[in-house]
Amino acid sequence: MRWRWPKAARTRAGHEGERERQRQVSNDSAAGNGEVWDVIVVGAGPAGSAAARAAAAAGRRTLLLEKAELPRYKTCGGGIIGPSRDALPPGFELPLSDRVHAVTFSLNGRMTRTRRSKRMLFGLVNRPEFDDALARSAVAAGARLRTGAQVSRVEQHGPAVPDRRTVAVVLAGGETLLARAVVGADGSASRIGTHVGVRLEQVDLGLESEIPVPPEVAADWKGRVLLDWGPLPGSYGWVFPKGDTLTVGVIAQRGEGAATRQYLSDLVGRLGLAGFEPSVSSGHLTRCRTDDSPLSRGRVLVCGDAAGLLEPWTREGISFALRSGRLAGEWAVRIADAGDAVDARRQALNYTFAVKSGLGAEMGVGRRLLEVFSRRPRLFHTALVGFRPAWVAFTRITRGSTSLAGIVRTSPMARRVLEMRERP
Ligand SMILES: Cc1cc2nc3c(=O)[nH]c(=O)nc-3n(C[C@H](O)[C@H](O)[C@H](O)COP(=O)(O)OP(=O)(O)OC[C@H]3O[C@@H](n4cnc5c(N)ncnc54)[C@H](O)[C@@H]3O)c2cc1C
Repeated sequence: MRWRWPKAARTRAGHEGERERQRQVSNDSAAGNGEVWDVIVVGAGPAGSAAARAAAAAGRRTLLLEKAELPRYKTCGGGIIGPSRDALPPGFELPLSDRVHAVTFSLNGRMTRTRRSKRMLFGLVNRPEFDDALARSAVAAGARLRTGAQVSRVEQHGPAVPDRRTVAVVLAGGETLLARAVVGADGSASRIGTHVGVRLEQVDLGLESEIPVPPEVAADWKGRVLLDWGPLPGSYGWVFPKGDTLTVGVIAQRGEGAATRQYLSDLVGRLGLAGFEPSVSSGHLTRCRTDDSPLSRGRVLVCGDAAGLLEPWTREGISFALRSGRLAGEWAVRIADAGDAVDARRQALNYTFAVKSGLGAEMGVGRRLLEVFSRRPRLFHTALVGFRPAWVAFTRITRGSTSLAGIVRTSPMARRVLEMRERP
């Protein structure tokens, strides 16, 4: 499938009109007057907005709760690969900051080589704008959005819960909202994930700087990203250009904070960017679930980062958030309709099955690739810069015409690479 992009981003007037609508929704006391919602979604990132949109589009009364005011900053490269594009709501206009046609690969600053493609490889977005637009698409489908609403906990039993078909969602100020089903999409430090009992096997620390640069530096990066295979096991760094700002980041396993900071500083230094003052420097954890981790408890489902759904090797999470969010919204509708606990449990198990058979399988391949990559980054680098089939596989994955799992299924060479993890 070819990339299709909008010719122009939405107008400022369009944004302003929608912001006003959001403000009205946020202040609407109907969001907390004791009525029972069909579905309450916690967190308005890509996962939560996708879930709220799906539930609202099915005609259910849906409330989307977000602790921040939108648009809000999120530490993220904003790389939109094919599967993310394909999971966007119909008619959604991607607010692209750049279109990537070239990748510069390096191995901890050495053996640098740029590969180019006539066709676009993937897109780049600014997350505040992208997430804001996704939340607006959920509102357009009929969901109610309430910002500045931090959820402190959910309760499925006890005095706050009027009956067994209801979940209580308690806000930081003590206000209690009620729903027939709840979707936790509250990101990698998820409270709802803790309630559900999500178990993790991989936690990484991502560090990023947004670096405004002069026009001549921006022109040098336009349409080109950098991927640097890093000095720490399983680590890598990137430069993602977004007009007059470069997003420069690194990711490595948690517990190596000082070395990860040093890696970012070295990367910025050797790219000649140390003289420019970052407008934002931030860090964020990414988390991958264990294969058998729960995705639901009672009438509560989790999706996206809250569920530990993330590609373990690249730490690509937007497509996982959009895809699991939509599934969670669809199954939350069925849980909301469920007449008893047995039916609700059956629907929750169906959700788990849908996630595990698709995203779970992709995570399994990513996990194995990360194991090999952690030990042999040079092998990956050499293949990508010097072996055409590896580059072609990379371009097909980023464009979305196949997945890592698809490559492994069809390529004996890729299977041999995965088998290397068993060798000393
Ligand atoms: C450094 C870094 C770079 C990355 N780069 C990429 C990339 O280029 N491409 C890619 O695909 N993925 C990338 N990822 C992963 C991607 O950012 C995440 O996987 C994705 O944001 C997950 O979306 P989400 O909706 O699950 O969670 P989030 O985007 O984190 O959204 C969660 C939302 O919930 C809200 N919230 C949290 N707690 C509460 C609460 N108690 N009550 C109410 N609201 C709450 C938050 O404010 C937030 O708006 C990167 C991650 C990191 C750390």
